[in-house]
Amino acid sequence: MVLGALEAGGTKMVCAIGNENGKIIEQVKFPTTTPEETMPPIIEYFKKHDVDAIGIACFGPIDLNTDSDTYGYILNTPKLAWKNYNIVGAVKDELHIPVGFDTDVNGSMLGEATWGCAKGLTDAIYITVGTGIGGGVLSGGKLQHGMLHPELGHILMVPGKGDNYKGKCPYHGTCFEGMAAGPAIEERWGTKAEQLVDKSEVWELEAYYIAQAIVNYIMILSPQKIILGGGVMHQLQLFPLIRQKVKELMAGYIETSELKDIDNYICPASLNDDQGIMGAIKLAIDAFNK
Ligand code: ADP
Ligand code: ZN
Repeated sequence: MVLGALEAGGTKMVCAIGNENGKIIEQVKFPTTTPEETMPPIIEYFKKHDVDAIGIACFGPIDLNTDSDTYGYILNTPKLAWKNYNIVGAVKDELHIPVGFDTDVNGSMLGEATWGCAKGLTDAIYITVGTGIGGGVLSGGKLQHGMLHPELGHILMVPGKGDNYKGKCPYHGTCFEGMAAGPAIEERWGTKAEQLVDKSEVWELEAYYIAQAIVNYIMILSPQKIILGGGVMHQLQLFPLIRQKVKELMAGYIETSELKDIDNYICPASLNDDQGIMGAIKLAIDAFNK
């Protein structure tokens, strides 16, 4: 079986050919500009490889409700050229093969659950902290959709002590993404996150916001594992700070074997930044087998 995988992001489109074992056989990237410009080479690429099914892990918000008239559409995105664009339809109309579709972060969650550190678990979350913040949720063995799909990056935050930053989210100001995504770090401290490595106060505050979000997710979703990925999480010094702050904020209210083993409970993504594209391969497999 030849599987096509598309990780559709706001800045780039990663296309890959993979097999049933999640092996990426080859991979290309195209910049995300407009659908008119970006989609034809992607479709050509998958045609050339004669793929049997495609999985798309897509930036959102997107319509995942298969009963909806706008299933497969990108919805109210700030990337205006892509607003109300039928990305699943565009691929299906040209290739006439099964197409799997989910959010980019659910894709990463699925990659980790199938081939990574969440293998065998039924309940886990994958959070990305990058240009934005988002999260995929595996709940009872299934990727959580619900009314739309979870938006773990836009939960409301209690500001850290002395942090008067107004927040960067155009909708909520000081939500999690508004306070802790890469662009918020850059605006608050006046320097790109990658160049703030030696400033401990940056990472203390960042860890506080991430820990606060995680505690809320633990209380609401009861995940068996929490996986953190995205550019900002390449700052590995964040992990011990986050774990410590999660413990403090939990205040001993929940005691489980998972929480006792917190180094494994709150962990970095395990698939070398390929979790998203590998998740898209799994979406293709599931679409093919449906
Ligand atoms: P995207 O979210 O666009 O897919 P990334 O996950 O790489 O891409 O996120 C980009 C953001 O992460 C930028 O704001 C950048 O400043 C920040 N970032 C990228 N790499 C690092 C790093 N090594 N350390 C800290 N921040 C980083
Ligand atoms: Zn927000």
